[in-house]
Amino acid sequence: MAREIGWPYKREFECHRCGNCCRGEGFVAVTEGEIDNAARFLGIPVSEFLREYCQQTKSGSWEVISQGDALMSCIFLFEEKGLFGCRIHGAKPDQCRGFPFDWRPRDAEEYCAGLRALAGLGKPKRQTMSRSLDRKIAKDNREE
Ligand code: SF4
Ligand code: SF4
Repeated sequence: MAREIGWPYKREFECHRCGNCCRGEGFVAVTEGEIDNAARFLGIPVSEFLREYCQQTKSGSWEVISQGDALMSCIFLFEEKGLFGCRIHGAKPDQCRGFPFDWRPRDAEEYCAGLRALAGLGKPKRQTMSRSLDRKIAKDNREE
């Protein structure tokens, strides 16, 4: 029987490196401190980090861009032997670090392989955090 995922299970959670939480519509917000940390982690100047990996919002804040692929993968997401990882893992933004326990959307158990395993739910039903994008990809695949 599936069980509810909550704080009591935090220690049991294991990231399956499916990468699904790093894909979808919407962008990861980064503060000035997080930008400094990530640029230092990559060994590049802040100006280069902003130019290569970020975009500025109308309000002047910064967010991490996507790779521009169909799944809208974060620019820092990489794949190695079927497992996905973050190129700035050692300095990733709080927003990323907090998922799935400090925060998570209500539908996170549809795409997070780790949460699904914990709840005995089997493989993820989706590939991204955006339900609308997953629907579009499924529709496109059916039409191909
Ligand atoms: S910065 Fe790293 S952890 Fe955050 S969305 Fe991008 S790849 Fe995922
Ligand atoms: S969706 Fe869950 S299991 Fe997949 S990479 Fe993110 S935290 Fe790990």
